[in-house]
Amino acid sequence: SDVILEVKDLKKYFPIRTGVLKRTIGHVKAVDQISFTIIRGETLGLVGESGCGKSTVGRTIIRLYDKTDGTVLYKGQDIHQLGKKELRSLRPKMQLVFQDPFSSLNPRVKVGESIGEAVVDHGLCSPKEIRERVMEVLRICGLAPYHYDRYPHEFSGGQRQRIGIARALILQPDFIVLDEPVSALDVSIQAQIINLLSDLQQESNLTYLFISHDLSVVEHICTSVAVMYLGSIVEMASREELFQNPLHPYTKALLSAVPIPDPTAVRERILLKGDIPSPANPPSGCKFHTRCPMAAEICGQQVPEYRDAGNNHFVACHLV
Ligand code: SF4
Ligand code: MG
Repeated sequence: SDVILEVKDLKKYFPIRTGVLKRTIGHVKAVDQISFTIIRGETLGLVGESGCGKSTVGRTIIRLYDKTDGTVLYKGQDIHQLGKKELRSLRPKMQLVFQDPFSSLNPRVKVGESIGEAVVDHGLCSPKEIRERVMEVLRICGLAPYHYDRYPHEFSGGQRQRIGIARALILQPDFIVLDEPVSALDVSIQAQIINLLSDLQQESNLTYLFISHDLSVVEHICTSVAVMYLGSIVEMASREELFQNPLHPYTKALLSAVPIPDPTAVRERILLKGDIPSPANPPSGCKFHTRCPMAAEICGQQVPEYRDAGNNHFVACHLV
């Protein structure tokens, strides 16, 4: 198999600063030693509650953030070791699509021009050809060419997300980080955007990291799923494995919130007590023990080992 991205023991800590001297008094361990690989043409879903570090993972693996430790190999190249020039030439290949594309669109610039901007910046297309190229990518993203001359406020939420996708796609990327790309949309529109992403993936052999707080959103597009809690991956498996045989109590709780299509089937809802603890001061032992319905004495004392429970199904829990 063709590994496009290999992340090993990645850490990203943000300093907590205080006072006029901005002295560092601690660190938020937003990403605390995580590892995964993504195969070309596949999608890894990265799921967890907001604040668990998913977006930081997405930004650090394409080096929008510098890492604190660990390695990120993109097609075998350590992207955190690249010089400015090398990084710039690689930029178009690794794109980010985020939740609210509207916030990044200049309200006074025609969307066609916004879509074409980065291509011109990177010198990937002559100014003469750009209009045609933008129109082509608009069409691929399900927007009629006349939208080129319209302004961001004239578009609905779903159309804006199509524009966000078009902006990434026009650079002919290999790998796209999709950070909650449908979370702001109505359910029916969500399905349309996910179908679009799925079609684009098949046509262009794209590889995705799909970030979502909602397991049901990633269910149909992912090849495999990683569940994150407070900066760590607590469980990772193929999609089938994870949905049919979840092992970690946190995954089970998230899954219990996913609606089942069969109305006669019952799935008991597992409600988690309390909020996510602060990543600046995570609980001892298993970081989930303060909220885990299964927690035993050992859980607050020892960090559970992250290991393969068989079938490439990785989990970190004392009880598994
Ligand atoms: Fe729950 Fe303990 Fe497993 Fe952590 S190690 S998930 S607290 S049972
Ligand atoms: Mg986020």
